[in-house]
Amino acid sequence: MITFDEALKIVTSGDVKPETELVGFKSSLNRILAEDVRSDMDMPPFHKSAVDGYACRREDIDAIMEVVEMIPAGKAPGKTIGKNQCAKIMTGAPMPEGADTVIMVEDVEELEKNKIRYLKEKVKDNICYRGEDIRESEVVLKKGTLIQPQHIAVMATAGCVQPLVYRKVRVGLISTGDELVEPEIKPDISQIRNSNAYQLIAQIERMGALGIYYGIALDTEASTREKIVASFRENDIILLTGGVSMGDFDYVPAVLKDLGVEILFKSIAVQPGRPTVFGKKENKFVFGLPGNPVSSFVQFELLVKPLIYKLSGYAYATMKFKLPMAKEYTRKKSTRLSWIPVKINENSAVEPLEYHGSAHINALTIADGLVAVPIGETCLKQGELVDVRQI
Ligand code: AMP
Ligand code: MG
Repeated sequence: MITFDEALKIVTSGDVKPETELVGFKSSLNRILAEDVRSDMDMPPFHKSAVDGYACRREDIDAIMEVVEMIPAGKAPGKTIGKNQCAKIMTGAPMPEGADTVIMVEDVEELEKNKIRYLKEKVKDNICYRGEDIRESEVVLKKGTLIQPQHIAVMATAGCVQPLVYRKVRVGLISTGDELVEPEIKPDISQIRNSNAYQLIAQIERMGALGIYYGIALDTEASTREKIVASFRENDIILLTGGVSMGDFDYVPAVLKDLGVEILFKSIAVQPGRPTVFGKKENKFVFGLPGNPVSSFVQFELLVKPLIYKLSGYAYATMKFKLPMAKEYTRKKSTRLSWIPVKINENSAVEPLEYHGSAHINALTIADGLVAVPIGETCLKQGELVDVRQI
């Protein structure tokens, strides 16, 4: 049995060279940029008014000014502003020549036709200057960025409509277990519904990777082998659930070995998820995750996700929040690093949730995150600061 840190190191060590492809920027959410994005123009591209108002010369703001034209957004100004002149201007419209200030429409009194007077003394310039946000050919997004909606806005602004991204990682999924039926079926007395496959596909797809399902393998060597062989052909990672413990019908590790997979670990000092198996064959990776749903969920978060991100070209670091425990949490044994589901309450304190162990999947439905109880510790004290790992 190895520690979690050792397991994570094994899973994420080694060099990878992910392939790249061009995609439309509109469908690039959750992909990883494979090159820097540069802007093809200044932003703003011209000096523009930041408010609705009157563009004028600062030195004239105490005078009565003549309105010489109106400049809506999207129109080029036609006139130069001279002494005691101004142009009515809308937010986002280009500044006219000669003007260096925009007085806000709220602070202006309209006198007779085409004459105005500014009602205040001081004035800000109220101009967004050309290039103040982005300079032409400046790098606006870095290689390795995980594309979120705000990055899509920047690509649109910069004219990057076909970003180069890393190829989607393909993850093959196999559930094992004679007791499993698919969710559409009402299980009979000895059966349960397969929840792991669909949970894992959702976890994979949330990351922007591809989850490909190969169905349920029976608890026989032949059936397990057939599914693994099929999934090996088409995927970067194969995830199996179930069949990795000490039961008489837990064939997964033996079949993997027989197929030439080098098993790098098969037991980790983590709860839930002790019998997690990890192996490698050529440039493909295999996880045998324990069948209990909380175990497969947690081990995906802890070990599979970092590998998927690594193969996707993303330098992933978990987002953690340090928050105080709302009440004490205790456990009896402390031989494994344990992960407990928690909720963050209205005082931003961490409430451990009622949790009966690794089969209790509905405990996760109201959880905001997981908190680790380290090896050797049996207690998290009230008020103690803990790292909450968001799920
Ligand atoms: P195993 O790891 O195969 O010994 O399974 C451990 C427990 O998880 C057993 O109670 C299984 O019935 C349950 N289990 C295994 N696979 C699944 C699955 N795909 N969905 C839900 N529960 C499962
Ligand atoms: Mg089983």
